[in-house]
Amino acid sequence: MPQAVFIAPARGADSGATRGGVGLSSMLWSGPASRAARLARGWLAAVWLCLPVLGAAQGMAVVPAGSVGQDVTPHWLHVADPRADMTIDQVRQLAVQGPDSPWTAPAPNGSAVGFGFTKAAHWLRLTLRNPTAEPSAQMLEIANARLSYLDFFAPDATGQYQAIRTGGDTPFATRPYASRHFVFPLTVAPHSEQVLYVRVQSTTGLVVPAKLWPAADYSKHQRDDYMVQSVYFGVAAAMILFNLLLFVALRDRAYLLYVSFAVSSVLILAAKAGLWDEFLWPHHWRLTSAAFYTAVSVGFVSFFQFTRIMLSTPEQMPRTDKALRVLSALHVVAPVLYWTSFALVAPYAIGVIAFSAITAFGVGVWGMIRRMRAAYFFMGAFSMLLIGVFMVVLRSAGLLPTNVFTVDGALLGSTLEMLLLAFALADRFNQLRREKINAQQQLMETQQRLLENLQSSERILAQRVDERTEQLLALNQKLEALSMVDGLTGIANRRQFDQVLAREWTHMQRKGHNLALVMLDVDYFKSYNDVCGHQAGDECLRSVAQAIASICRTGDLVARYGGEEFVIIAPGTDGLQAVQLAQRACDTVRALAMPHPLEHAAVVTVSCGVAVMVPSADSTLEALLGYADAALYQAKARGRNQVAGGDFEA
Ligand code: GH3
Ligand code: MG
Ligand code: MG
Repeated sequence: MPQAVFIAPARGADSGATRGGVGLSSMLWSGPASRAARLARGWLAAVWLCLPVLGAAQGMAVVPAGSVGQDVTPHWLHVADPRADMTIDQVRQLAVQGPDSPWTAPAPNGSAVGFGFTKAAHWLRLTLRNPTAEPSAQMLEIANARLSYLDFFAPDATGQYQAIRTGGDTPFATRPYASRHFVFPLTVAPHSEQVLYVRVQSTTGLVVPAKLWPAADYSKHQRDDYMVQSVYFGVAAAMILFNLLLFVALRDRAYLLYVSFAVSSVLILAAKAGLWDEFLWPHHWRLTSAAFYTAVSVGFVSFFQFTRIMLSTPEQMPRTDKALRVLSALHVVAPVLYWTSFALVAPYAIGVIAFSAITAFGVGVWGMIRRMRAAYFFMGAFSMLLIGVFMVVLRSAGLLPTNVFTVDGALLGSTLEMLLLAFALADRFNQLRREKINAQQQLMETQQRLLENLQSSERILAQRVDERTEQLLALNQKLEALSMVDGLTGIANRRQFDQVLAREWTHMQRKGHNLALVMLDVDYFKSYNDVCGHQAGDECLRSVAQAIASICRTGDLVARYGGEEFVIIAPGTDGLQAVQLAQRACDTVRALAMPHPLEHAAVVTVSCGVAVMVPSADSTLEALLGYADAALYQAKARGRNQVAGGDFEA
């Protein structure tokens, strides 16, 4: 059973003086340098090393002044106070030795003693012995900033025990020494023993890591300690500001979530380090625990949302995404409980936090299994922090020893994690940019293809339209021509006649030339028709038309005027020439010698009426037609198969 801690002598003080024959440490470290003494010292050292194993330690080695703090963990005696109602006097009266003694040496957990989550108070007893002739000034440091209550009892000059009550749930001002941890200055008189009592009680995990520092060395230790903290918080602040600026510039939610997560991480670590109480809100100590767990929840919500963006869980793993949303919701609700009934939910909070951390880790692993690029960065980054957090959580639960990794590992982990995460964000930015460029490229190619398709369609369409237009034009010309041609005889029809007559009228009027018109009518055609039949009549008409057409000059027009009447337009033809033309027509038709059923007719003949005019403003086209018609009538009246007219002048 540990009994006493030797106090280090002050720097340069004589360390040889001992009392009560327990000068073990003095012999170990500063005895005479004779051979025998060296041998004895070696032997004694071996015995001393075995003492803790034998469970009968007579004290601990004295660490020379100026060295690191001494771990007093193996020297505590412990008594539990389940109802948390024992007084210092009651505790002091408990027998320290003998079979009835309730004091036990708590099993050390690394460099701390741990009692897990408990409502009970726990008393720790430590015996210090100063074997030197000088008073020894020491600092008892309990390096767990989250302990709710600490009562420190040391005897004053008169031997009366004075209580110092402090802890995370008391104002910062209650601390006898300003530090992020709980530090109790004490002095042990020369050649004397001193018994200290520490009562601890906490809503957080009850872990008590205690060290004894020579008072003169503590400020150096503290300076180094704060230096480490400063480096971490400096790096973190830089990362947070940088990513905040990136968020402002890029408006990408991922950066804001990163910032939120990083701020939470910083707050969590600051709270764990006891820096809130010292710097952030020394007057609001009552809120620290709830605020701490709130920061944890905000951290998880930010982290889960960040994960959802980084690993595209809504699209890539919908079920995991649902789990992340449920957990996020849980962490949104949890702070309400922290602020209303902290003591009640604190033990469960650790479970939820551990589960959240495992989930986060699992999602990262799952992303890696699915070979998602971001997941690699993610896991690299978060495994750092998660390992650190796990260690801290497990240490709180008393499952891991207290050492540099379980205490400050989270600082290093958090720094590396922030750097790697920022790198993951940068990589994501790169990836997005590449995807955007690819998408733009594809878009441009698609547009180009569309444009080409459109252009080629347009070309085809234009070609088709041209073809159709040509076809239509040809058709129109054909129709136009057809509309100008008599269907039966193949010569110009009445329409063409009208047009050409009007044109030539104007033309000849302008030139002041003659315009001759010969009107022809088949003689006794009704009888021919009646006797020979309509078909033969048609055939006859065709032959007559061909015959008339054959004797006309180029520039003349032969047209079917209607029924068995024909007409010749002969521009620039005077009366005589017109009569000769008409006579030639008469002769040609008669020369066809188409037999006519009427006896006096014998063959098919035509009668012609000739009219010639120089068109003028005073004359009309209708008059010319009228003259031709009248001449024809005359030819009929004179006996048919002859020419009449040609002597009319306007
Ligand atoms: P005229 O000597 O006085 O001219 O006696 P005509 O019999 O020829 O008298 P009319 O002009 O009255 O008769 C014209 C006839 O021509 C009437 C009609 O039967 C015939 N006819 C008119 N158009 C066509 C046609 O396109 N085909 C045929 N086969 N006969 C037609
Ligand atoms: Mg007629
Ligand atoms: Mg006739």
